[in-house]
Amino acid sequence: MSDILLEIKNLKVHFPIRSKQFFGGSTTYVKAVDGVSFYIEKGETLGLVGESGSGKTTVGRSILRAIEPTEGQVTFNVDGQTVDLSQLQGKELRAFRKHMQLIFQDPYSSLNPRMTVRDIIAEPLVAIKLAKGKEVDERVRETAALCKLNLEYLRRFPHAFSGGQRQRIGIARALISRPQFIICYESVSALDVSIQAEVLNLLMDLQAELGLTYLFIAHDLSVVAHISKRVAVMYLGQFVELAPTKQLFSAPKHPYTEALMSAIPEVNPDVEMVPVHLKGEIPSPVNPPSGCRFHTRCPYVEDVCRTEMPEWREIAEGHFAACHFVDSLQLKGTVTADSIGVVN
Ligand code: SF4
Repeated sequence: MSDILLEIKNLKVHFPIRSKQFFGGSTTYVKAVDGVSFYIEKGETLGLVGESGSGKTTVGRSILRAIEPTEGQVTFNVDGQTVDLSQLQGKELRAFRKHMQLIFQDPYSSLNPRMTVRDIIAEPLVAIKLAKGKEVDERVRETAALCKLNLEYLRRFPHAFSGGQRQRIGIARALISRPQFIICYESVSALDVSIQAEVLNLLMDLQAELGLTYLFIAHDLSVVAHISKRVAVMYLGQFVELAPTKQLFSAPKHPYTEALMSAIPEVNPDVEMVPVHLKGEIPSPVNPPSGCRFHTRCPYVEDVCRTEMPEWREIAEGHFAACHFVDSLQLKGTVTADSIGVVN
């Protein structure tokens, strides 16, 4: 347990919506995240995948306390001490942010066009008051070099750079406070494929050099496969499967994971692709389906799925899933896990 950096227990984020009526009105809740528990080890990358509306973004934002969780606990092990993030407020919370940073999705809109690269990278350092004067410049140069940015770029403005270079600037900004934990939120999805590989390799090099821990949130499974040690799959506010990357991709145990995998383009022409077509859209998180939340779209649904919620259980070492038929379903993974770059 001492290798755990971050532990999340029963995290819930419910957003209230009030209906307007003459006599009072009632409050209902959007259950964006509904009872999620997991941990991330020091130096590990945990991938988090799911369709839009699954709640993966809200999990990331509530860990950073950009959104206040409704319920649950987030603890962070730092310098031999366990810190309960829900207990931090005001100055204490601001100071603690140096340990946790975010790399944004869009390298174009996430950089202020009126600030120089030097000022953009220095911003968190100045905001958290971690350094001033010459020390700021030294830290900016050191961090820019780590991110393989030419030091001559520091005086320029973001418009002078390509998407890949801008994302390096965003990574440098996230690294300047020397965080231990970084949330990569769709951090390569806006980039060309060739540039995606460069940025992923940079993130992996930085992790090896600085011992960073990542939560890598993305919708592209092949990107997640490339960088993650374990992958969690989310559906309608809950985890449905979590496993070591290779195991998840070669032998998924939840029908939703199988459906997501079947959408990955197969590069081997000898392997026949049989896409799993899901029925309809993801249901509303205001009134999620009874029993198994996936039952309205699952190709293997049985009567019990409509009334009883499946148990989240460990079916092999480190491999968890929530499905009534986890032991009997023979699901297809990506046969050529190696060909999509599964490295762990
Ligand atoms: Fe499908 Fe039933 Fe398993 Fe849910 S419990 S994933 S509906 S088979």
